[in-house]
Amino acid sequence: MTTFTSVNPATGEVLREFECASGAEVRAAVEQARAAQLAWKELGVRQRLRAVEKFQRLLLDRKDEVAALISREAGKPVAEAITTEILVALDAARFLIANAYRLLADERLQHGNLATKLKRGRLVREPYGVIGIISPWNYPFSIPATQALAALVAGNAVVLKPSELTPLVALELASLLHAAGVPEDVFQVVIGDGATGAALIESSIQKLIFTGSVATGKRIALAAAGRLLPVVLELGGKDPMIVLEDADVDVASSAAVWGAFVNAGQTCLSVERCYVHRSVHDAFVAACVEKTKKLKVGRGDEAASDVGPLIHERQLKTVEEHVADAKACGARVLTGGARIPELGPNFYAPTVLTGVTGDMRILREETFGPVLPIAAFDSDEEAVRLANDSEFGLAASVWTRDRARGERLARRIEAGTVMINDVVSCFGISEAPHGGVKASGLGRTNGRLGLEEMTWVKHVDVDLMPGMKKVWWYGYGAAFSRQMAGFLEMQFGRGVERVRGALKSLPVLWAKRR
Ligand code: NAD
Repeated sequence: MTTFTSVNPATGEVLREFECASGAEVRAAVEQARAAQLAWKELGVRQRLRAVEKFQRLLLDRKDEVAALISREAGKPVAEAITTEILVALDAARFLIANAYRLLADERLQHGNLATKLKRGRLVREPYGVIGIISPWNYPFSIPATQALAALVAGNAVVLKPSELTPLVALELASLLHAAGVPEDVFQVVIGDGATGAALIESSIQKLIFTGSVATGKRIALAAAGRLLPVVLELGGKDPMIVLEDADVDVASSAAVWGAFVNAGQTCLSVERCYVHRSVHDAFVAACVEKTKKLKVGRGDEAASDVGPLIHERQLKTVEEHVADAKACGARVLTGGARIPELGPNFYAPTVLTGVTGDMRILREETFGPVLPIAAFDSDEEAVRLANDSEFGLAASVWTRDRARGERLARRIEAGTVMINDVVSCFGISEAPHGGVKASGLGRTNGRLGLEEMTWVKHVDVDLMPGMKKVWWYGYGAAFSRQMAGFLEMQFGRGVERVRGALKSLPVLWAKRR
């Protein structure tokens, strides 16, 4: 049996020891979920939304203890636990309460083809059954909470495999959902590492929502392909921020500093590349450096802290490698650029780099740490080319006082979301879909599109003339082909051609009337 520990990344203190769930335990959890799902589905959307309302109420009541736990296990400042985790989850619940009944309702089809006018069609949204969710550590509450709420409201049972770095937060989510009335078998957590996640994919789940790195996402896509398991993949990013010459430099530099350092830079939507028009580059860099130097790095449970620790030594090593590579290739460190061991095991100083070029790892690979690399550009054309010169395509931002120009650029950028004059916060818009293109993933979570991912669509077709044989059934021959050719002219032709077609095709109706 493999064991692991949950650790406070700011102090190294062991919070609890866990055993990884075995393959047999994962399979058993999924089978229990499958058995319980039918009754959950039968409850109907309105009844399931009652549990979401209760969850929202309980989370609001327990926000302080939940925020403290998130901060303790993931390291982030309590203020960020409240805004980027609890607020996001509460608002996702609000979105579902207000919209899910309508969005999950049957949809009437309007038939255009004359040959199908005597039928009525409906699209019915069916839950998959059991949805597996595999989640990362960086937003250990808001990511699984938003995904699980949507899956549950749609009538699925859920088995969640949280990151091995943040199991306690996942257990807190489970306890809130269960207290809100979601049956224990309908929402389950299986604790463990990658092997437990792999066992979940091999189990009888009917869809997987995965959030994590590109490398793991590719392994998961391969495993899922073997059993044609439908998957949503929410993967990494290397989000560009484009600052045009007419941007408000003070506002944009504050955005860059927050967007690069929120959650110690460990956000899929972090500002990982900043491209600034040459005419404002120096002023922008100076403002970023000044604002970065003022940030207070410290434990998440200290109210004055702006930037907490990284989650793990592994993450620090990646940051160090990227910064060392950039320096070796000619980049300049204007502030930061080193660990802060006196604060604890995993602290790294918020870092601003200039003189970065597209061949450096810092602009090509996801750094996932508190580093803001800034480069200059000379034209909109070049800015778009630089933004798109990446294997990733999660989100991007354009900074300008000219909204129309910003929107023109947004259309040319290859990313799941392009924000004009904001960074990162798109994940907090519960109405908006979240997801990427290129290596950043497949499918969407959140909003209408995210809710639709939790269902498959059944087309129910009702024929209104059960006593009538269809004209296109057997009984072919030269006359039939002529008549049907006339039918095509009647439907798709122009002017007199349509009348001629109608006259030609009428006999077919007569001939096939019985
Ligand atoms: P990770 O890929 O290492 O792990 C993610 C999850 O997958 C964990 O629960 C892990 O235990 C599990 N896992 C690992 N190997 C597995 C396997 N072979 N089969 C099944 N499950 C397996 O990612 P991480 O370090 O936890 O998270 C950071 C990454 O997540 C970053 O790349 C970040 O950009 C990305 N991320 C993306 C989004 C998004 O919405 N696009 C959001 C948050 C984080």
